[in-house]
Amino acid sequence: MNDAAVRTNIDPRRELPSVDELLRSAAARSWGMLTGERMLADLCRRSIDECRAELTSKMANGLAESIDTNELAEEKLNTIARTFFAPKQTRVINATGVVVHTNLGRAPLSEAAKAAMVEAAGYATVEMSIGDGKRGRRGGFAEDLICELTGAEAAVIVNNCAAAAFLVLSVLATDREVLVSRGELVEIGGDFRVPDVLGRSGAYLKEVGTTNRTKISDYASAIGENTGLILRVHPSNYKIIGFTATPSNAELAELAHEKGLAFFEDAGSGALVDLSQYGLGDEPLISRSIEDGADIVSFSGDKLLGGPQSGLIVGRKELIVKIRRHPLFRALRASKLIYAGLEATLGAYLRETAFTEIPVLRMIAASSDEIYERSARFLKSFYGKIASSSKVELKLIEGVSVIGGGSAPGVQPATHLVSVDHAELTADELAAKFRSNRIAVFGRIENDRFLIDLRTVSENEEGELLDAISQLTF
Ligand SMILES: *Cc1c(COP(=O)(O)O)cnc(C)c1O
Repeated sequence: MNDAAVRTNIDPRRELPSVDELLRSAAARSWGMLTGERMLADLCRRSIDECRAELTSKMANGLAESIDTNELAEEKLNTIARTFFAPKQTRVINATGVVVHTNLGRAPLSEAAKAAMVEAAGYATVEMSIGDGKRGRRGGFAEDLICELTGAEAAVIVNNCAAAAFLVLSVLATDREVLVSRGELVEIGGDFRVPDVLGRSGAYLKEVGTTNRTKISDYASAIGENTGLILRVHPSNYKIIGFTATPSNAELAELAHEKGLAFFEDAGSGALVDLSQYGLGDEPLISRSIEDGADIVSFSGDKLLGGPQSGLIVGRKELIVKIRRHPLFRALRASKLIYAGLEATLGAYLRETAFTEIPVLRMIAASSDEIYERSARFLKSFYGKIASSSKVELKLIEGVSVIGGGSAPGVQPATHLVSVDHAELTADELAAKFRSNRIAVFGRIENDRFLIDLRTVSENEEGELLDAISQLTF
């Protein structure tokens, strides 16, 4: 490189490396793997342009003496490249204790689901039947499994639950009135608001009852000539407590059927197994909704179910057939990767190994004692590795985890937390350090303490987490 770079009394802009020179620098070589050659040359050109502009303004202020222009250009390249790649999707360690963390990708997949998705990445029998070599039904097996597990007659799978609800309303209720309790006109987050979705689908919202109390007679008296559907929306992310009332699914189904209407439940999370012993008794159990007479139920594949992002619609065959034939279905249908991941996830429920195979269920079911044991072992490994006089101190404290993903408000499973104290860093500074770790670590800050909840950290991530903490001891 250019050894004249540090000389003074020369226009430093002339000492800037050429694009070719910068391309050969260590900084450029380290970015090359990500960028490819053409993009890298472009980033180098932009870096040099920015250095030139910066030097010009420094010269005007007499601040451009003895600048190492090579170093300046490499630093600039690092900054520009880092900014460009900042939004890139990368693996992270979720130490927040929020099990279904929407911003961190909701449900982490089971090993079987990951393997199935990798396998389906090549050519796969998406719409082909191996038996006769003829065209097969897309998503057929995943749909059969979901029927088997819920007792529904038929099922259809789309991109997510928002798409599912929109599709159901568009097919079954366009130009018709849909009855919804005032207590269920909720916003789920990310702009999914029940009144808006309903409006967009072409259905008309007819509000029933009050925010805290809606009775079956309120629904009955709201039914008119143009009523098409009774909708129940599970208020996933909030809970009304106190003086409340709402009819059961069975009552709503009975009323709907008496009047020749359909009853549709948007269950949101939906559970395929009873989770009431973990405090999740308020989450609709899909098989129970079907048993209670719901004609159609929609729910997410990546919340409590623990699979890939998808929206599942189950219910009466004639209605599912109508949904599948609608042009909107074609626009909202899921990809082969999703069918593969769902088949593998649902397979674990079928084999009754869901609580060992599916991370979301494993995490929900982990007891506070189990997490205490793991955390104590974790502390022991840390102090075995690091002299106790280091700047970092780990402590075990009691606390709670969160289910998350807009489900189970107020459900806070007891847990044990590892609190990380640093002699020189505040909790916010620690959080920033953890995020800038080679594998970014997300924890929680409470009362000015940085906290790690091992409930949401898999055992194979513990080594990486330990390394991240060890980095802070120097
Ligand atoms: C989460 C949720 C949705 C949206 O589901 P996505 O899979 O995120 O699209 C819709 N309705 C209810 C009741 C929900 O809880």
